[in-house]
Amino acid sequence: MNTNERLSIAFKGLKDGIHEFRFSKSDKFFENLDYSEFEKGNIEVFVTLDKKTQYLSMDIIISGQVYVSCDRCLDMFYMPFEFNGTLIVKFSVDLENNNDEMIILSPNDFEVDITHYVYESVCLSLPVKRIHPEDKRGKSTCNKEMIKKLKILNNQSVHNEIDPRWDKLKNFNNN
Ligand SMILES: [Zn+2]
Repeated sequence: MNTNERLSIAFKGLKDGIHEFRFSKSDKFFENLDYSEFEKGNIEVFVTLDKKTQYLSMDIIISGQVYVSCDRCLDMFYMPFEFNGTLIVKFSVDLENNNDEMIILSPNDFEVDITHYVYESVCLSLPVKRIHPEDKRGKSTCNKEMIKKLKILNNQSVHNEIDPRWDKLKNFNNN
């Protein structure tokens, strides 16, 4: 893991109050996460950190695009996304209570790593169905040739599915 590609915010020396951080990451960010579903992408992360005496509150805006496979034509394309969330950081010796909106750090920690939070948020902000966007005239930008081929393949597999039933019928007649 290349530590340069991690998204960390050092808060220890900061005064109480508002602080802003900006990160720009590209392909290397995703390459460095061995669990990443994406190989390529660009992300902009904008963090507004409110440092309180007892905890940290972070408003996090993430925008950009990730390289995904289209569910309709299977071609790869860059899908844009936007995410807006709030992450709370609390301090405790009991580190068990981590969840999606809260990170528990030890009182000795001096920085908070939001790499995983950002990655998960990108995943959450993508639609379930990933399909090429429409162009200005409202027409699909999918690979038309590929869709034709997929349709032919689909029809073939429908025919193939019928075959086992014919086999059963044949067996029935033999009995
Ligand atoms: Zn497509």
